[in-house]
Amino acid sequence: MRIATGLIVAGTISLLASSAAWSQALPTKPAAAAPAAAAAPTPPPAAAAQPTQPARAACSNPNALGVGRTVEIDTTGGPGFGFEHFKELDFLKEKEVVLTFDDGPWLGNTPAVLKALAEECTTGIFFTIGKHATYYPEILKQVYAAGHTVGTHTWSHQALVNKKLSEDQRKEEIEKGFSAVKWALGGVAPAPFFRFPALQHPPEMVTYLGERNIAIFSCDLDSFDFKASKPQVVIDNVMRKLEKNGKGIVLMHDFHKHTAEALPELLKRLKAGGYKVVAMRAKAPVQTLPQYDEAVIKDLKLPTMSSRPVSSVVTTVSE
Ligand SMILES: [Zn+2]
Repeated sequence: MRIATGLIVAGTISLLASSAAWSQALPTKPAAAAPAAAAAPTPPPAAAAQPTQPARAACSNPNALGVGRTVEIDTTGGPGFGFEHFKELDFLKEKEVVLTFDDGPWLGNTPAVLKALAEECTTGIFFTIGKHATYYPEILKQVYAAGHTVGTHTWSHQALVNKKLSEDQRKEEIEKGFSAVKWALGGVAPAPFFRFPALQHPPEMVTYLGERNIAIFSCDLDSFDFKASKPQVVIDNVMRKLEKNGKGIVLMHDFHKHTAEALPELLKRLKAGGYKVVAMRAKAPVQTLPQYDEAVIKDLKLPTMSSRPVSSVVTTVSE
């Protein structure tokens, strides 16, 4: 924290040349999908200058799906998107789609989704889980570096409608999600785009997000990829619903293997069907709150400047 203040005042934080202030001794990944503890340092940020996000790479595929349109979202007051829950903002034209991916970043599947999007020169919004971002900050950095929009999906994917959670605990789930993603991106704040776990919207948290100027994303059509028995089911679900709705914000999960496997074919089908992908960008990044930035670092345990693997630090010399 002490180190950080000086560095932040001294200059901008570079994503690629991650400063000591945001250095990350990589946490060890959990074996299963369940969130686990992580280890790493970091300080709370001040109002630091944010570097510009890298643009998507130039497209070398003449038959790519591409990006039809890019829209910038002013999140003042916490607008809601996705007709499953919010009816006011009907901004998509016929045949326009927004691709969204929840629950990452995750080993294997998120990189596969990134590869599929890159091959088709297209993009999406990644609603990442804070804890997962602390497990795989390098994967989340790849998402950001590829020019995709990074939003959040709570700290640990708790259902915020759960009455056992106090109001403070609900806020903490939201805020630590943003702070963790900022930590994982080396101090770069994500978009003020948020999706509730299981699309369950407690009214008081919808109000809170409005006060925090964070946009809320439901969806227009759910791929139900988490229930799909194989990739083809994901493709069929999305295409059938799009044909019915004509357009929409599509909910998928970069966390899931079937989705990652389905995506190359799904993107080809979208192109063949005449659909156009719309990129959604935030007008300004989220303003994280210092106490939650600190809380994330505390959760990540003791700061250390060493990122050497345990095998290089601890050697069994007799047994
Ligand atoms: Zn989720």
